Order: sequence, then C-alpha cells, then structure tokens
Amino acid sequence: MTRIIAIANQKGGVGKTTTCVNLAASLAATQRRVLLVDMDPQGNATMGCGINKMEVENSACEALLGEATAIEATVTAKAGFSVIPGNEDLTLAEVNLLQEIGREMKLKKALASVSDLYDFILIDCPPSINMLTVNALTAADGVLIPMQCEYYALEGLSSLLRTIEQVRDSVNSKLEIYGILRTMFDPRINLSNEVSMQLIEHFDRKVFRTVVPRNVRLAEAPSFGLPILLHDRSSRGAIAYLALAGEVLRREDERMAKAV
Ligand code: ATP
Ligand code: MG
Repeated sequence: MTRIIAIANQKGGVGKTTTCVNLAASLAATQRRVLLVDMDPQGNATMGCGINKMEVENSACEALLGEATAIEATVTAKAGFSVIPGNEDLTLAEVNLLQEIGREMKLKKALASVSDLYDFILIDCPPSINMLTVNALTAADGVLIPMQCEYYALEGLSSLLRTIEQVRDSVNSKLEIYGILRTMFDPRINLSNEVSMQLIEHFDRKVFRTVVPRNVRLAEAPSFGLPILLHDRSSRGAIAYLALAGEVLRREDERMAKAV
C-alpha cells in the first residue's frame, strides 16, 4: 500500500527539504519505489535532486491545475527515484486555485492516478500554511514534522497542529502526525536537550528515535544536485537518514502487522 507523507513545518529552514530529498534517496536505496513531490515555489527539493527547476517541461503547477497528468509531470532524479518538480509557477498555481471549487483536493486527485506505482510518496511543503500546504495535507496519510530543538520551535508548532486538526475534521479524516524529527541537532547545547525532552513528553512515540545531527556534508550535497547518499555515504548525515528510512520501514511493518 502506498504511504503518502507530507513533510511540513511553517517555520523556515528547519530541514524539510533536506529530509524530503534524503529520506526519498534512502528509501529508494532499499528498493522502495519513491515519488518526491515538490510543492514549494522555491524548488529547493527539485534542485537538490539534480533537476533544473527552470528547464522542466511540466511541474507540480501543471499537475495541480490539471494541465498535465502526474505522469506527464514526473521526471527521474539521479538517485533513481521519481520527482514531480516544483518552481515559481507554483505561486501562480496557488493564486489560481483560490478561485476553484474543491481547491484543497487538487493534489490528491492528481496523485490518485499514480499512487499505485509507488511505495512512498513524499511531499515537500513550503514554509507557510497556504493552499499548497493544505493540498499536501489533504493528499497525505501523515505529516512528518522536522524540528530544530531551539527556543521558538514549540511555539511555532501550534498553528501547524491546528491546521492538521482542521484538515482532519474537514477533508481528510485519516490524516495523522506521522512523526516528529529532530534535525540539525547539537547535543552540546543544553537548550537542544531540554527542547528534545519536551518533545518526547508531548509527542511520546511520535518522536523518531533517529536524530539528524548538524553535518556540513548534508548542507553541501544540494550544491552538487545529489542526496547525501551519493555525495558522501559514510558521513554522519547519510547514516542518520538511512536510520530514519529504517525507522519508517519498521513503522510500516508494524502497521501492516496490526492490520492483519
Ligand atoms: P525552507 O523553509 O526554506 O523550505 P527547509 O525547512 O526546507 O527550508 P532546508 O532547506 O532543508 O530547510 O535546510 C535549511 C538549510 O540548512 C539548508 O542550507 C540546508 O542545507 C541546511 N541543513 C539542513 N539540515 C542540515 C543538517 N542536518 N546539518 C547541516 N545543515 C543542514
Ligand atoms: Mg524547503
């Protein structure tokens, strides 16, 4: 069964895109069929996969507006997984969607025709709660929330949690918090450990055991258009994202076992 996971946090620069690209690559490395959907007009995930966001024929914009099918908008990343790229056109899509009936459902509809082709669909969200993010949450089974363990981290979370609740109550009753991922973690900072403890108190088993450390190799990989696995597979960043993929797969196994 396909799992659709939106990677969201309206706070900017917390590691959403890094997580999306590297989790996609790590899952693909375990022979899972993966589609990454870039819903951010910044197009960072697209570029991070080695795809020139300015040169794509179709993008998530066309898929959302029904001007191309999801298949027509799909390209292949160097790391072997599929990508529906994103670029500035998504800003146009967001404006146009506002006038449409069923505007929250557009991505869900677009992905319906391809979801059987994949084990995982990962959606990279922009750093705001807008119609693009709402489309991602409507299409998703779960939300993976990357968080930096710093002072304002929890404060920013409440509006995302409220939006998740609203989407669940209106258009997507199955939406759950898939997991909270601690990113750019530095255990030498006391505050990081304190915030980390608070997250575990609050979200319990939803907090991934995998912690992504601050690692310069992760930050430089996008400039080569490569996920960390292809840039430096022995780096701490690569090991962390492989561990995260392992944890995701274990969760899926547990879910399947419960369902039987
Ligand atoms: P935005 O909100 O703008 O979309 P984002 O939440 O997608 O940002 P990223 O783009 O993934 O965040 O990360 C922000 C910056 O931090 C990038 O320059 C990225 O390379 C760097 N970065 C992300 N994770 C790590 C890490 N674990 N170690 C070091 N640098 C990191
Ligand atoms: Mg991003």
